[in-house]
Amino acid sequence: MKKVLSIIMAVALLCTVIITANADAGTATITGDDAIAIGSSKDYTISISGCADATSVAVAFSCGESFSITAGSWLKSGTMSTVDLEKNKAGLGLLASPNINGDLFKLTVKADDVAATAQDLTVTVTAKNGANVIFEKTVTKALTAACAEHTFGDWSQKTAATCTKPEVEHRVCSVCGYEETKEVGAVLEHSFGEWQVTTPATCTTAGEETRTCTRECGEPGATETRPINALGHNFGEWTETTPATCTTAGVETRTCTRECGEEGATETRPIAALGHDWGEWVVVKEATDTEMGLKQRVCKNNSEHTETLDIPITYKITEGDKADYKAADKQDFVVASSADPAKFLALEIDGKMVDPSNFTVDPDYTKITIKAEYMATLAAGPHDVTIVSTDGAANTTVEVEAIPAPATEEETESENTSPKTGANSMVELWIMLSILAAGAYVTTYLVKKSKAN
Ligand SMILES: [Zn+2]
Ligand SMILES: [Zn+2]
Ligand SMILES: [Zn+2]
Ligand SMILES: [Zn+2]
Repeated sequence: MKKVLSIIMAVALLCTVIITANADAGTATITGDDAIAIGSSKDYTISISGCADATSVAVAFSCGESFSITAGSWLKSGTMSTVDLEKNKAGLGLLASPNINGDLFKLTVKADDVAATAQDLTVTVTAKNGANVIFEKTVTKALTAACAEHTFGDWSQKTAATCTKPEVEHRVCSVCGYEETKEVGAVLEHSFGEWQVTTPATCTTAGEETRTCTRECGEPGATETRPINALGHNFGEWTETTPATCTTAGVETRTCTRECGEEGATETRPIAALGHDWGEWVVVKEATDTEMGLKQRVCKNNSEHTETLDIPITYKITEGDKADYKAADKQDFVVASSADPAKFLALEIDGKMVDPSNFTVDPDYTKITIKAEYMATLAAGPHDVTIVSTDGAANTTVEVEAIPAPATEEETESENTSPKTGANSMVELWIMLSILAAGAYVTTYLVKKSKAN
């Protein structure tokens, strides 16, 4: 007996679950406008879907206090049909068709006065099959009652202008409370304070400065930044870090006075080598008529820098010393030095080299025979004669006596056979240039010894 009762209870519970599940299935909707102008009416259609076959259906409806329901009618047919606007409900029985899905009921709603807020139209649909509720849904729609024409007051300020937004004015409908707004005038623009350095610039990197709106508006663009250019190094004076010497370059350096330690903060450049600053030549050993002497000079920058030079031998004139020459005799003139004839270089008269065609040199000793034709070209008076050898020279003078007035014929002949003077060959030119360069003709031919540190 207990077992049977349990089974019955279980089945009953199951049925209840099934019935409840069926009643929850499906949907109900209200179709119509959201707003109704005050004094007018609008229709709203209630539709359902997902409802099983039914034998009767009922609706219950209500609306907010600013509205009234003025009419209701079934959109399905049945033998028993009621609409009770007093009690806000309607019923339909003995249905022509058990399928009641689709448009089911129509309500007409009138807006009586303004509504401060939206108010709901609420409809509950209940369908039954026999005594069992097979569908039950409550659906709502928010309605507002609107002025046909608003009754606005004066425009007044709603919000003041800010840095980025203009002033806003508004006016409100005294009937429905509808608000209208508009923007007036221009924005204030930010009112920036002074630029403040937020990241200082260094010698090589840019900094940054910032300014902010003094109104502390917090609106977009209220803070601006801009870069500060790198300063560039501020160099001090150049100081010598490696002194230059006579022969080597020195170095001088300068450093950024900000002691930034950044790239390029120290610069160097070379100081040119000084070059020797020689003092006067000092004779260490005088030359004799057989040996060369020696002279030395010392650098004023560094006494360890010295240079030495041989002093040429002062050869003796062994023949023709301080002689008199009578041009009228038309004789060759002989002059000799104590030097080795192998060392003979040149003959000079009055500092000018005599062309070798004007004299001959004895191979056995330095005996020079100057031709009479050449001697005839010398003016009356003393003439300086120098026999130049590779390691020295012998010097003397010759006194030329005036030639009596010559015949015209001889003069012509003399012109035709005029002996060569001056430098004509390349070798002579080289010797002369060397003399000019050295400033002292003899030293040019000598070996120069120098020592420099
Ligand atoms: Zn209004
Ligand atoms: Zn601002
Ligand atoms: Zn610097
Ligand atoms: Zn020096």
